[in-house]
Amino acid sequence: MNFLEEKIVTDGTIKQGNILKIDNFLNHQIDIDIMRQIAYELKRRFRNVEINKVLTIEASGIAIATMLGDLYDVPVVFAKKSETANSTDSKYVSQAYSFTHKKYNNVFVSKPYLNATDRVLIVDDFLANGEAIHALIDIVHQAGGQVAGIGIVVEKGQQEGGSKLREEGYRLESMAIVEEMDWETQTIRFRHQPPRKLSGANLSVLP
Ligand code: 5GP
Repeated sequence: MNFLEEKIVTDGTIKQGNILKIDNFLNHQIDIDIMRQIAYELKRRFRNVEINKVLTIEASGIAIATMLGDLYDVPVVFAKKSETANSTDSKYVSQAYSFTHKKYNNVFVSKPYLNATDRVLIVDDFLANGEAIHALIDIVHQAGGQVAGIGIVVEKGQQEGGSKLREEGYRLESMAIVEEMDWETQTIRFRHQPPRKLSGANLSVLP
C-alpha cells in the first residue's frame, strides 16, 4: 500500500452512503506533510506534462491545488460555488450535482483567470461520479484552454467518474483508488493493492 492508503486505513472512517471521512488530514484539518508528499507524487506522475495553471473547486481541493501550484510555480484558480456580491467580473458558469450535499451547484470562475492559452492541471480531493471534475473541464473549454491532466487524491473506483474520464481520453492520476468499502464492517480495499490488515487501525482491509 502507498503512504496515502496507509494513512486512510489508519485515520479514516466510512460513513453510511458510501462516504469516506478523512477529516483529520484532508477535509477539515490538513496534514501538511501528507499533502506535500501527495503533491510531489502527482507532479512526478505528470512529469511529461506541461502546465501553466492549476484549477480546483472550493473548498477541499484548495489545499492540494496550492501545494501543486507552489511546486510548479504557477497560479492556482479555484472555482466558486456561489457568486460573490463584490465581484463584477463576467464569469464562466457550469453545473455539478454534489454527491455529499445531494443538490446541484453552479460553479463559477471569473473570466480574467482562465483563457485560451492555458494548459490546466485540474485537481480535487475526491473523485466520485465525476460531476465536479466535468464542471471544471467544461469551464476550461469555455475559456478555450486545454485540460493537460487531472490529479485526484482519492478516487472512489466503485463510482463511475474515473472510468468515464479515462474513456473520454483524459490523463487521470489518482493517488489512491478505493475499490470497495463497507461502513458496517469498516472495511476497505484499494485497487491493485495486496490486501493487508494493519494493527491498531480504525479500518481493516477486506480479505
Ligand atoms: P463527484 O463530483 O465526483 O461526484 O464528487 C466529488 C466531490 O464530492 C468532491 O469534490 C468531494 O468534495 C465530494 N465527495 C465525494 N465523495 C466523497 C467522500 O467519500 N468523502 C468526502 N469527504 N467527500 C466526497
